[in-house]
Amino acid sequence: TNIRPDMHRVLPQRILNILTRAGETARSMGYQVYAVGGLVRDVLLKVENLDVDLVVEGKGIELAHKLAETIGGRVRAHEKFGTAEIVFQDGYWVDVVTARVEYYEYPAALPQVEQSSLKHDLYRRDFTINAMAVALNPERFGELVDYFNGREDLQIGAVRVLHNLSFIEDPTRILRAIRFEQRYDMAIEPQTLRLIKEAVREKVLARLSTERMWGELKSILEEADPEDMMDRMSELGVWDYLFPEITFWEVQPVISEMPQALMILRNWGWAEPAERWLPYFLAILHWTTQETAFEICQRYFLGRRQTDKVLDVIAHWRRALKSLSATGDVPLSELTKSVQTLPREAYPLFLTLLEDKNAIRRFRLVMESVHKNKPSVNGKDIRAMGFQPGPMYRRALDAVWRARLDGLVQTREEELEYARNYLIQHNAPKIEPKKPKGNN
Ligand code: ATP
Repeated sequence: TNIRPDMHRVLPQRILNILTRAGETARSMGYQVYAVGGLVRDVLLKVENLDVDLVVEGKGIELAHKLAETIGGRVRAHEKFGTAEIVFQDGYWVDVVTARVEYYEYPAALPQVEQSSLKHDLYRRDFTINAMAVALNPERFGELVDYFNGREDLQIGAVRVLHNLSFIEDPTRILRAIRFEQRYDMAIEPQTLRLIKEAVREKVLARLSTERMWGELKSILEEADPEDMMDRMSELGVWDYLFPEITFWEVQPVISEMPQALMILRNWGWAEPAERWLPYFLAILHWTTQETAFEICQRYFLGRRQTDKVLDVIAHWRRALKSLSATGDVPLSELTKSVQTLPREAYPLFLTLLEDKNAIRRFRLVMESVHKNKPSVNGKDIRAMGFQPGPMYRRALDAVWRARLDGLVQTREEELEYARNYLIQHNAPKIEPKKPKGNN
């Protein structure tokens, strides 16, 4: 079968161009090249996928260099593995791997061996639906290579491993099975499910490095709707390996409200954070103690900045909740101050925790005022007034900001005036006039 028409329908021009050039380059070198994995799966599902993984029957690194000459990009090669990435200016990249060709075994029958080397590569993959390839050489462009009936499994909605040792070989595949099952609304095929249960019983996850576990966990937390995946993780006993300190059922109600909270916030102008997994991660951890949260962050090698955010949220969400839920007239600047101690990645969690309409309304007000009411004065203005750079800058700007929230200042002139008065009242040091140097 040829899936070229589907490729044209589903893939953006930029990707099609890369695939076409890859095929032409391979032909000029006497190689065969294929796109494999998620891209093929998603083309068949008619879902866009921008991750290009190329498998080369031939020297992958050399093809990468030659291909980069026509499509641009910088090549990062890993000689030891025969792999390379072509990295573009905008951060987009294409993966290139070499399919092992065992020339010495059948020197007389090269074409056959070449084909079996692709098969070999595909056989190492996780599920049949991810183990398909599409040929890219011009004379074969769009030809589907499907040794393991991946297409049929896609049609019937089955997540199926390629062999019985799959989960022993690589336990992260347990998480991947769950992710693909729930993402595409498929079902883990019965024998595969048995293998998962067996593997969990044999505690294969305990042997897995937390680093690899985190890689897959993060992918799950970045999915559009991770709740069902977490449900399944809990059902299959996987959750206890990831978060033994946290009872899934305690956080589940909050998790299940996250998609809606995220949607509402987007409507309010909340920008998606770069670390897309963090809102869900915070939702999972918010009920633990600082100590436990810290341990979990350490276990998954979170950076200092991310860990601080997590600990901040745990330290402050209760207080922020209380101030937003308080009755009576609290000035907007006061409310804002309490919400501001929360990183914006915590807003979705926070919204799920707010109970009554009034508190939600106030939260929205605060959020919008944070966005829209940004004062125009900044550090440069203060410097122009002749004050010495230092901690007073931040304090003065905060003061202006609060004044603005409470309607005490409106125009830029009023802000400048307010800042100056504040600095004078607080004895902010002035810049010492420098002696002019001799060369003007
Ligand atoms: P997504 O849409 O989430 O990016 P994907 O299938 O592209 O899904 P990747 O993690 O980018 O997922 O992996 C790319 C391909 O590499 C997969 O389609 C699969 O063939 C293979 N693969 C990835 N991880 C494993 C693994 N742990 N074991 C076997 N094969 C894997």
